[in-house]
Amino acid sequence: MITSETLSALDREDPLGPFREQFELPEGVIYLDGNSLGPLPRRTLTRLIDVTREEWGQSLITSWNTHGWLRLPQSIGDKIARIIGAAPGEVVAADSTSVNLFKLLAAACALRPERKVILTEDGNFPTDIYMAEGLVSVLGAGYEVRTVDRENVAASVTDEVAVVMLTHVDYRTGAMLDMTSVTASAHAAGALMLWDLAHSAGAVPVDLNGAHADFAVGCGYKYLNGGPGAPAFLFVAARHQDAAHQPLSGWMGHAAPFDFEQRYRPAEGITRHLAGTPAILALVALEEGVDLYLEADAEDLRRKSILMTECFAALVAQECGDHGLTLASPADAGNRGSQVCFRHDEGYAIIQALIARGVVGDFRTPDILRFGFAPLYLRYQDLWNAVTHLRHVMDKREWDNPDFRIKAAVT
Ligand SMILES: *Cc1c(COP(=O)(O)O)cnc(C)c1O
Repeated sequence: MITSETLSALDREDPLGPFREQFELPEGVIYLDGNSLGPLPRRTLTRLIDVTREEWGQSLITSWNTHGWLRLPQSIGDKIARIIGAAPGEVVAADSTSVNLFKLLAAACALRPERKVILTEDGNFPTDIYMAEGLVSVLGAGYEVRTVDRENVAASVTDEVAVVMLTHVDYRTGAMLDMTSVTASAHAAGALMLWDLAHSAGAVPVDLNGAHADFAVGCGYKYLNGGPGAPAFLFVAARHQDAAHQPLSGWMGHAAPFDFEQRYRPAEGITRHLAGTPAILALVALEEGVDLYLEADAEDLRRKSILMTECFAALVAQECGDHGLTLASPADAGNRGSQVCFRHDEGYAIIQALIARGVVGDFRTPDILRFGFAPLYLRYQDLWNAVTHLRHVMDKREWDNPDFRIKAAVT
């Protein structure tokens, strides 16, 4: 039996407790949606004001040189590399996850020209599949996006498959794949492996090089707290960097952008995976989120994340056991990311009723209630309070209100 006191005691001993005050979190809100949009680190606001006023305002265009603007995609990439088990020079922060998927899928297909299939799972995040479809439409004859059930991915890596593209932590259920063994099975069949780390970076330990991954992409605005629409990142393993080419060959990926040569010549290393001028204000906001995250101990983060998801699942069973909420996430914390999800036919309305009470989770079609647990700023006590609100919503059928059935554009 978990009590409010159990959880307060955990808060008193929590080595990550002091991080909470580094975030701007509205009074009265329990924020369980850092997996969709991380909250605002207080220092981000200060940095944005400084960079805007001093660097942009006063130093103007000289800032590209004097304030290191030009190299921000690489320098922030090096910091993100530490979070995902990559080496310096293997990661850049740029563009969106969607655009980075296009670039790296194209690079992967070009490395395996005799193979024409991009293999992924049914139920992968839609933009991943859409971008692969878009790429196939320009690659033309013979190219194909093939989707199979998650259980059949390994067995489906035939000699037609150029690249296997998978999301490490499923955005709906939080189910986490074994990066090492899946990568090994792709390689055994001669394919390359691309991981989407949108729900992994800043949420679970990731070791791209330990798993021998070839390519990866990920998101800056989720667990890295980089701000709405923050630049994403991409990873290309060092061993592929000389041979890998991406087709969005803009001048920022050129070997000498300010020589204004008339022909594209790719930069060495990871830089060729940039396309256009970096969004400096967005990058510095991302850097603050990443820096703050790097101050926390990785083992403390994982330990707290696991304990939080375990406590939350157990509390929902304990307090709301007979309300038809079924666990949609793997029961074993070792097999899931930093989120816990439940299924319920009235999932959308239940989430809206919770939001009205200040408990922010989100809904994923068709019936998933999704709760993300970011150990950097959540308190164990928040779990108790969130589940108490959930119990009220369920006991009193608060969700059964037409207002809570109105679908907003963003769920
Ligand atoms: C959030 C998310 C994305 C987002 O892509 P954007 O281009 O940033 O909109 C991509 N893939 C997965 C798996 C995600 O969860």
